[in-house]
Amino acid sequence: MTPFLDVSGVSFSYHTMEGETKALSHISFTVENGEFIAVVGPSGCGKSTLLTLLCGLAEPEEGTVLLNGLPVSQDHSRIGYMFQRDCLLEWRSVLSNVSLGLEIQRRLTPEAKKELLSMLETYGLGDFVNSRPSELSGGMRQRAALIRTLALKPDLLLLDEPFSALDYQTRLSVCDDISSILRASKKTAILVTHDLSEAISAADRVLVLSSRPGRLKAEIPLSFSGETRPIHRRNMPEFSSYFNLVWKELKSDDKHNS
Ligand code: ADP
Ligand code: MG
Repeated sequence: MTPFLDVSGVSFSYHTMEGETKALSHISFTVENGEFIAVVGPSGCGKSTLLTLLCGLAEPEEGTVLLNGLPVSQDHSRIGYMFQRDCLLEWRSVLSNVSLGLEIQRRLTPEAKKELLSMLETYGLGDFVNSRPSELSGGMRQRAALIRTLALKPDLLLLDEPFSALDYQTRLSVCDDISSILRASKKTAILVTHDLSEAISAADRVLVLSSRPGRLKAEIPLSFSGETRPIHRRNMPEFSSYFNLVWKELKSDDKHNS
Protein backbone atom coordinates (compact mmCIF):
# COMPACT_ATOMS: atom_id res chain seq x y z
CA MET A 1 0.00 0.00 0.00
CA THR A 2 1.20 3.52 -0.78
CA PRO A 3 2.27 5.30 2.40
CA PHE A 4 0.62 8.66 3.14
CA LEU A 5 4.00 10.39 3.08
CA ASP A 6 7.06 8.84 1.47
CA VAL A 7 10.41 10.62 1.80
CA SER A 8 13.07 8.84 -0.20
CA GLY A 9 16.78 9.65 -0.50
CA VAL A 10 16.25 13.37 0.03
CA SER A 11 19.23 15.75 0.02
CA PHE A 12 19.20 19.54 -0.02
CA SER A 13 21.76 22.35 -0.12
CA TYR A 14 21.44 26.13 0.12
CA HIS A 15 23.40 28.15 -2.41
CA THR A 16 24.36 31.66 -1.37
CA MET A 17 27.01 34.24 -2.29
CA GLU A 18 29.23 32.71 0.39
CA GLY A 19 28.96 29.24 -1.14
CA GLU A 20 27.08 26.02 -0.65
CA THR A 21 25.60 24.82 2.66
CA LYS A 22 24.64 21.16 2.62
CA ALA A 23 21.60 21.02 4.91
CA LEU A 24 20.21 17.48 4.48
CA SER A 25 21.78 14.27 3.24
CA HIS A 26 19.94 11.17 1.96
CA ILE A 27 16.92 11.23 4.28
CA SER A 28 14.38 8.42 3.88
CA PHE A 29 11.30 7.60 5.97
CA THR A 30 7.58 7.02 5.58
CA VAL A 31 4.59 8.22 7.58
CA GLU A 32 1.20 6.52 7.78
CA ASN A 33 -2.11 8.33 7.94
CA GLY A 34 -2.85 9.45 11.51
CA GLU A 35 0.71 9.01 12.80
CA PHE A 36 2.33 11.58 15.07
CA ILE A 37 6.05 11.85 14.29
CA ALA A 38 8.65 13.91 16.15
CA VAL A 39 11.93 14.98 14.54
CA VAL A 40 14.81 15.86 16.87
CA GLY A 41 18.33 17.01 16.14
CA PRO A 42 20.86 19.67 17.12
CA SER A 43 20.11 23.25 16.11
CA GLY A 44 21.08 24.00 12.52
CA CYS A 45 20.91 20.34 11.43
CA GLY A 46 18.20 20.97 8.84
CA LYS A 47 14.92 20.32 10.71
CA SER A 48 13.14 23.41 9.39
CA THR A 49 14.58 22.74 5.94
CA LEU A 50 13.03 19.26 6.05
CA LEU A 51 9.58 20.76 6.74
CA THR A 52 9.90 23.19 3.82
CA LEU A 53 10.64 20.19 1.56
CA LEU A 54 7.70 18.22 2.98
CA CYS A 55 5.23 20.96 2.14
CA GLY A 56 6.72 21.61 -1.28
CA LEU A 57 8.00 25.13 -0.55
CA ALA A 58 11.39 23.88 -1.74
CA GLU A 59 12.37 20.98 -4.02
CA PRO A 60 14.92 18.37 -2.96
CA GLU A 61 18.09 18.39 -5.07
CA GLU A 62 18.12 14.61 -4.84
CA GLY A 63 15.37 12.15 -3.91
CA THR A 64 11.61 12.51 -3.75
CA VAL A 65 8.83 13.58 -1.38
CA LEU A 66 5.56 11.83 -2.23
CA LEU A 67 2.16 12.45 -0.64
CA ASN A 68 -0.33 9.68 -1.43
CA GLY A 69 2.11 8.51 -4.10
CA LEU A 70 2.28 11.88 -5.90
CA PRO A 71 4.90 14.66 -5.75
CA VAL A 72 3.74 17.16 -3.07
CA SER A 73 3.14 19.84 -5.69
CA GLN A 74 0.62 17.58 -7.49
CA ASP A 75 -1.22 16.12 -4.52
CA HIS A 76 -4.33 17.92 -3.34
CA SER A 77 -3.92 17.17 0.35
CA ARG A 78 -3.98 20.27 2.48
CA ILE A 79 -0.90 20.97 4.53
CA GLY A 80 -0.99 23.10 7.69
CA TYR A 81 2.12 24.79 9.06
CA MET A 82 2.60 26.04 12.59
CA PHE A 83 5.62 28.10 13.61
CA GLN A 84 7.48 28.97 16.79
CA ARG A 85 5.94 32.45 16.71
CA ASP A 86 2.16 32.44 16.73
CA CYS A 87 1.97 35.32 14.18
CA LEU A 88 -1.41 36.51 15.51
CA LEU A 89 -2.41 39.93 14.20
CA GLU A 90 -2.79 42.41 17.05
CA TRP A 91 -5.41 44.58 15.33
CA ARG A 92 -7.78 41.65 14.87
CA SER A 93 -9.92 39.94 17.50
CA VAL A 94 -9.21 36.30 18.41
CA LEU A 95 -12.15 35.17 16.27
CA SER A 96 -11.03 37.15 13.24
CA ASN A 97 -7.48 35.86 13.72
CA VAL A 98 -8.53 32.22 13.68
CA SER A 99 -10.77 32.84 10.67
CA LEU A 100 -8.05 34.62 8.67
CA GLY A 101 -7.03 31.62 6.55
CA LEU A 102 -10.61 30.78 5.62
CA GLU A 103 -11.31 34.44 4.88
CA ILE A 104 -8.34 34.62 2.49
CA GLN A 105 -9.54 31.46 0.74
CA ARG A 106 -13.12 32.86 0.65
CA ARG A 107 -14.33 29.84 2.61
CA LEU A 108 -15.61 31.68 5.69
CA THR A 109 -19.21 30.52 5.49
CA PRO A 110 -21.64 30.96 8.41
CA GLU A 111 -21.24 27.20 9.11
CA ALA A 112 -17.44 27.51 9.15
CA LYS A 113 -17.73 30.43 11.58
CA LYS A 114 -20.01 28.41 13.83
CA GLU A 115 -17.48 25.59 13.80
CA LEU A 116 -14.68 27.99 14.73
CA LEU A 117 -16.70 29.34 17.65
CA SER A 118 -17.28 25.82 18.90
CA MET A 119 -13.54 25.01 18.58
CA LEU A 120 -12.66 28.17 20.52
CA GLU A 121 -15.13 27.04 23.20
CA THR A 122 -13.75 23.48 23.31
CA TYR A 123 -10.15 24.68 23.58
CA GLY A 124 -10.80 27.11 26.43
CA LEU A 125 -10.96 30.34 24.46
CA GLY A 126 -14.75 30.76 24.53
CA ASP A 127 -14.56 33.85 26.76
CA PHE A 128 -11.90 35.50 24.57
CA VAL A 129 -13.58 35.41 21.17
CA ASN A 130 -13.68 39.21 20.95
CA SER A 131 -10.42 39.87 22.83
CA ARG A 132 -7.21 41.06 21.22
CA PRO A 133 -4.25 38.62 21.11
CA SER A 134 -2.37 40.79 23.67
CA GLU A 135 -5.01 39.91 26.27
CA LEU A 136 -4.18 36.19 25.98
CA SER A 137 -1.49 34.20 27.80
CA GLY A 138 1.30 32.58 25.78
CA GLY A 139 -0.42 29.20 25.95
CA MET A 140 -3.78 30.63 24.86
CA ARG A 141 -2.11 32.38 21.92
CA GLN A 142 -0.55 29.11 20.78
CA ARG A 143 -3.92 27.36 21.03
CA ALA A 144 -5.47 30.17 18.93
CA ALA A 145 -2.69 29.67 16.36
CA LEU A 146 -3.48 25.95 16.29
CA ILE A 147 -7.20 26.59 15.78
CA ARG A 148 -6.34 28.96 12.90
CA THR A 149 -4.29 26.16 11.33
CA LEU A 150 -6.89 23.42 11.98
CA ALA A 151 -9.65 25.65 10.55
CA LEU A 152 -8.23 24.95 7.09
CA LYS A 153 -8.73 21.22 7.75
CA PRO A 154 -5.19 20.14 6.88
CA ASP A 155 -4.53 16.48 6.10
CA LEU A 156 -0.93 16.90 7.25
CA LEU A 157 0.19 19.23 9.99
CA LEU A 158 3.80 20.45 10.18
CA LEU A 159 4.82 21.95 13.52
CA ASP A 160 8.15 23.77 13.69
CA GLU A 161 9.17 24.11 17.36
CA PRO A 162 5.71 25.48 18.19
CA PHE A 163 6.28 25.53 21.94
CA SER A 164 9.79 26.89 22.24
CA ALA A 165 8.76 30.51 22.81
CA LEU A 166 6.78 29.48 25.92
CA ASP A 167 8.08 29.20 29.48
CA TYR A 168 8.67 25.67 30.77
CA GLN A 169 5.44 25.22 32.73
CA THR A 170 3.26 26.62 29.95
CA ARG A 171 5.11 24.52 27.40
CA LEU A 172 4.25 21.32 29.28
CA SER A 173 0.56 22.08 29.42
CA VAL A 174 0.27 23.50 25.89
CA CYS A 175 2.10 20.47 24.49
CA ASP A 176 -0.36 18.28 26.39
CA ASP A 177 -3.36 20.25 25.10
CA ILE A 178 -2.17 20.41 21.54
CA SER A 179 -1.26 16.76 21.24
CA SER A 180 -4.64 15.78 22.73
CA ILE A 181 -6.35 18.00 20.15
CA LEU A 182 -4.30 16.49 17.31
CA ARG A 183 -4.99 12.95 18.46
CA ALA A 184 -8.69 13.58 18.95
CA SER A 185 -8.92 14.94 15.41
CA LYS A 186 -6.76 12.03 14.11
CA LYS A 187 -4.39 14.37 12.29
CA THR A 188 -1.14 13.21 10.75
CA ALA A 189 1.45 15.47 12.31
CA ILE A 190 5.19 16.04 12.19
CA LEU A 191 6.58 17.92 15.15
CA VAL A 192 10.09 19.36 14.92
CA THR A 193 11.71 20.09 18.25
CA HIS A 194 15.14 20.20 19.86
CA ASP A 195 13.53 19.12 23.15
CA LEU A 196 13.91 15.33 23.53
CA SER A 197 11.40 15.11 26.38
CA GLU A 198 8.79 16.90 24.33
CA ALA A 199 9.35 14.54 21.39
CA ILE A 200 9.16 11.39 23.54
CA SER A 201 6.15 12.57 25.52
CA ALA A 202 4.06 13.42 22.46
CA ALA A 203 4.91 11.25 19.45
CA ASP A 204 4.35 7.72 18.12
CA ARG A 205 7.85 7.64 16.67
CA VAL A 206 10.98 9.78 16.98
CA LEU A 207 13.31 10.46 14.06
CA VAL A 208 16.81 11.42 15.19
CA LEU A 209 18.87 13.62 12.85
CA SER A 210 22.64 14.07 12.98
CA SER A 211 24.27 17.50 13.04
CA ARG A 212 24.50 19.29 9.66
CA PRO A 213 24.14 18.01 7.06
CA GLY A 214 21.21 16.24 8.69
CA ARG A 215 21.22 12.48 8.15
CA LEU A 216 18.63 10.14 9.64
CA LYS A 217 20.50 8.45 12.48
CA ALA A 218 17.67 6.45 14.01
CA GLU A 219 13.93 5.89 14.02
CA ILE A 220 12.63 5.03 17.45
CA PRO A 221 9.03 3.77 17.76
CA LEU A 222 7.49 4.65 21.11
CA SER A 223 5.15 2.41 23.00
CA PHE A 224 3.70 3.56 26.30
CA SER A 225 1.13 0.77 26.64
CA GLY A 226 -1.39 2.89 24.76
CA GLU A 227 -0.93 6.01 26.90
CA THR A 228 -0.87 9.09 24.65
CA ARG A 229 -1.11 12.02 27.11
CA PRO A 230 2.31 13.71 27.34
CA ILE A 231 1.83 14.64 31.00
CA HIS A 232 1.15 10.99 31.93
CA ARG A 233 3.89 9.58 29.74
CA ARG A 234 6.47 11.72 31.49
CA ASN A 235 5.82 9.82 34.72
CA MET A 236 6.04 6.34 33.21
CA PRO A 237 9.12 4.12 33.58
CA GLU A 238 9.46 3.80 29.77
CA PHE A 239 10.06 7.54 29.55
CA SER A 240 13.60 7.54 30.93
CA SER A 241 14.59 4.45 28.92
CA TYR A 242 13.46 6.18 25.72
CA PHE A 243 15.18 9.38 26.79
CA ASN A 244 18.49 7.55 27.22
CA LEU A 245 18.05 5.77 23.91
CA VAL A 246 17.34 8.97 21.95
CA TRP A 247 20.15 10.78 23.78
CA LYS A 248 22.62 8.03 22.92
CA GLU A 249 21.60 8.15 19.25
CA LEU A 250 21.97 11.94 19.16
CA LYS A 251 25.45 11.80 20.64
CA SER A 252 26.80 8.84 18.69
CA ASP A 253 29.60 9.63 16.18
CA ASP A 254 28.82 13.31 16.44
CA LYS A 255 32.02 15.32 16.57
CA HIS A 256 30.38 18.74 16.86
CA ASN A 257 27.42 18.48 19.17
CA SER A 258 25.56 21.65 20.06
P1 ADP B 1 17.26 23.72 12.13
O1 ADP B 1 15.83 24.04 11.87
O2 ADP B 1 17.53 22.29 12.41
O3 ADP B 1 17.83 24.58 13.21
P2 ADP B 1 17.65 24.78 9.44
O4 ADP B 1 16.91 23.85 8.58
O5 ADP B 1 16.99 26.08 9.75
O6 ADP B 1 18.10 24.03 10.79
O7 ADP B 1 19.06 25.11 8.77
C1 ADP B 1 19.98 24.11 8.37
C2 ADP B 1 21.24 24.78 7.85
O8 ADP B 1 20.97 25.49 6.66
C3 ADP B 1 21.83 25.79 8.83
O9 ADP B 1 23.23 25.68 8.80
C4 ADP B 1 21.38 27.12 8.29
O10 ADP B 1 22.31 28.13 8.59
C5 ADP B 1 21.30 26.87 6.80
N1 ADP B 1 20.25 27.66 6.20
C6 ADP B 1 18.93 27.69 6.55
N2 ADP B 1 18.22 28.51 5.76
C7 ADP B 1 19.10 29.04 4.86
C8 ADP B 1 19.00 29.96 3.75
N3 ADP B 1 17.81 30.49 3.42
N4 ADP B 1 20.13 30.25 3.07
C9 ADP B 1 21.33 29.69 3.40
N5 ADP B 1 21.49 28.81 4.42
C10 ADP B 1 20.41 28.49 5.14
MG1 MG C 1 14.51 25.38 12.78
